[in-house]
Amino acid sequence: MSGTDRDPEVEAEADLDAETEATAEGGDEPLLAVEGLRTTFETDAGTLVAVDGIDFTVSEGETVCLVGESGSGKTVATESITRLVDSPPGHIEGRVRFRGHDLLAMDAEAIRSVRGPGIAHVFQNPQDALNHCYTVGWQIVEAIRVHEDVSEAAARARAVELLDRVGIANPSARFDDYPHEFSGGQKQRVMIAVALAGDPDLLVADEPTTALDVTVQARILELLSELQAEFGMGVLFVTHDLGVVAEIADRVVVMYAGKVMERGSVLDVFERPSHPYTRALLSCLPGRGNEVTGIEGSLPDPTAPPEGCRFAPRCEHAIGACRRGEQPPETELTEGHGVSCVFYRDGRDPSVVRGNGNGNGSGDGSDAETKRRDASRNGSRSADASTPGTGGAEGSDGG
Ligand code: SF4
Repeated sequence: MSGTDRDPEVEAEADLDAETEATAEGGDEPLLAVEGLRTTFETDAGTLVAVDGIDFTVSEGETVCLVGESGSGKTVATESITRLVDSPPGHIEGRVRFRGHDLLAMDAEAIRSVRGPGIAHVFQNPQDALNHCYTVGWQIVEAIRVHEDVSEAAARARAVELLDRVGIANPSARFDDYPHEFSGGQKQRVMIAVALAGDPDLLVADEPTTALDVTVQARILELLSELQAEFGMGVLFVTHDLGVVAEIADRVVVMYAGKVMERGSVLDVFERPSHPYTRALLSCLPGRGNEVTGIEGSLPDPTAPPEGCRFAPRCEHAIGACRRGEQPPETELTEGHGVSCVFYRDGRDPSVVRGNGNGNGSGDGSDAETKRRDASRNGSRSADASTPGTGGAEGSDGG
């Protein structure tokens, strides 16, 4: 492509960069600030509310985990950020500010220029995310050239470099292989290479290890941590697995039925879990010294959510006040640690829902760190990358 024949998306991206530099001066704004995000879908059964007015932020270089059961709205929330939700039937409201720009107010061309170099996604199932008609090398080259005005040879060299960086052995030779010639773990590495092709500021990883066996999961998480440090990216990580959260999170946002139930640092959530839902999730995790239990009941119908607290139908502590009005507003317990529960308001006794002697704020940092390590070791993603035969090269990614 000649210098005079530039891709409109490259032009739009250059404009965005220039504007970003201009607006970034003096601003303490987080990398991503989501405010009042609400995503609904029109269905035959009525309006389905998948995400209902949530707020959260991600700062540069930070890892924030959105955690909750399947169906909590985590994936829809992350796909709403870059407007990957089809509209119609989807409808997104609120504000999503990324480097000072409201992504929900951008036109289609501008939002395309953010996807890739601004915010890149890694999805749960690389099998579906890769195009099986094209070689993996071609797919990475395309991802580079969509956003960068570089020659094919330069893009190819960069693609080989990326394959090497994500741990694909003999990357020059594997460049021309098709996705079906890679194992599940190798495909996820390729997807990460595609995501890194635009050198993103924020990586959104949606259950990227769920489809993989536990030893491969451990190596992919390790790779993501290394890449985050190397590329200086913020990471927004979606998972239902608190073992993974313990391993990688700086901060945690606990979601249930489209609402935020609790948020805080990873130590707040593991040492001082304050919402009954968070506590119930933790009780599902092996290694907490209790018998492992599930959470009784199921998520409410998103086309007809209950009044009051969304968790009330499953909460053993629910009282009349829980079943009236809206979801209780968040109460800030300590800086950055918020909880949405009536027992933290109106003179009620929070120890009712917080339990006795477990996580009421008395633990010191080392105790919290021990619990976090236990969760990491004993969670469903329990593989230890240092176990002989499981670390290192990608050759054992289930090939
Ligand atoms: S508000 Fe009520 S129902 Fe909701 S978590 Fe608190 S005690 Fe349980």
